[in-house]
Amino acid sequence: MPDLVPPRAEIVVDVAAIRANVRLLKDLVSTERPVRLMAVVKADGYGHGMAEAAAAARSGGADWLGVATIEEALALRAAGDRGPLLCWLSAPGDDFAAAVAADVEVTAYTVAELDAIAAAGPARVQLKVDTGLSRGGAVRAEWETFFAAAAAHESAGRVRVTGVWSHFAASDEPAHPANDQQEAAFREALALAEQAGLRPDLAHLANSAAAILRPSSRFDLVRCGIAAYGLDPAPGVTPRLGLRPAMTVRARLVMSKPVAAGDGVSYGHTWHAERDTTVGVVPLGYADGIPRAAGNTASVWVEDSLRPVRGRVCMDQLVVDLHGELPAPGTEVVLLGPGDRGEPTAQDWAEAVGTISYEVVTRLGGRLVRRHVDSDTDATSTTSEATTGGDVR
Ligand SMILES: *Cc1c(COP(=O)(O)O)cnc(C)c1O
Repeated sequence: MPDLVPPRAEIVVDVAAIRANVRLLKDLVSTERPVRLMAVVKADGYGHGMAEAAAAARSGGADWLGVATIEEALALRAAGDRGPLLCWLSAPGDDFAAAVAADVEVTAYTVAELDAIAAAGPARVQLKVDTGLSRGGAVRAEWETFFAAAAAHESAGRVRVTGVWSHFAASDEPAHPANDQQEAAFREALALAEQAGLRPDLAHLANSAAAILRPSSRFDLVRCGIAAYGLDPAPGVTPRLGLRPAMTVRARLVMSKPVAAGDGVSYGHTWHAERDTTVGVVPLGYADGIPRAAGNTASVWVEDSLRPVRGRVCMDQLVVDLHGELPAPGTEVVLLGPGDRGEPTAQDWAEAVGTISYEVVTRLGGRLVRRHVDSDTDATSTTSEATTGGDVR
């Protein structure tokens, strides 16, 4: 990794890993027949930078990109993406006309949404059915009405229904009964859509875990988020595929110093040194998205060893046990990475704090700067500000 002026702390994203993961996933799902791949780049590309993640995914063969909001879709267009793009979370009053003008496909959950989209049309729209997640999407009792309304708008030339789709509740638990039930319900929805006269190009149901673990759910397209970033969608279940985590978070040690047996460390003295040791100050805290729950549970990597976080994580800083060593200020601290050198992974952090890797990577931000590198070409891009707001810069 080329070092320019060493930043206090940074997120380094290897876009080559995203490219390779997307290529691998697309090959995996297309072993029997071609299945299209949508790379999901919502939430600022799961904290990896939306525009850069999108470009890497496209170069790895992503046919589609998916985001939650219209704002995210428009930001991708502003960043120069011109390919097939779907968004699926609108709130009343959203600007469907802007999405249509930018050639973004939108998703309808209700007849009222269909009407609003049609009023902004002619629009390309996908229909989301709730097959059992009980989150967004039309509920079973409304499917006939929903499809009939869509067919009427289509006949009138106000919309073109390009897809029908749904989302799993428990795809990371392959034996969960909801998976079979939802897939059966989805097939029923597709049959009803056809009876209503709809001829969508795409039926899709699978996220990363289902794409990998449940071939019957692949239909025409799979929507892969977490796996594209190299993180495991179903820890303990997913077979080894060779996915590579794209994100590394690192910092410069602020200082190292001795503490004596019995000394308390950080706010509330929730940890006391059992024996004389040394501690290091790392300039990252919960305001940067480091979970406060990592106090006394997570570890970081300093000079080829795991160093446990001691005491509470503060707003801007955390303290680690250096086991008697006194590395110089400025020494590299790796908080998480692909794990090649022994450093913790996002999955390790998730387990340490009782969450999922999705939350670990998407919440990182605050004052962290983000740098994109391409290990295929050794290119490094200018540093961008990591924000928690899904902004593209
Ligand atoms: C976020 C999201 C995905 C991606 O899920 P992963 O588990 O990250 O692959 C797919 N579909 C929808 C509707 C989503 O909201």
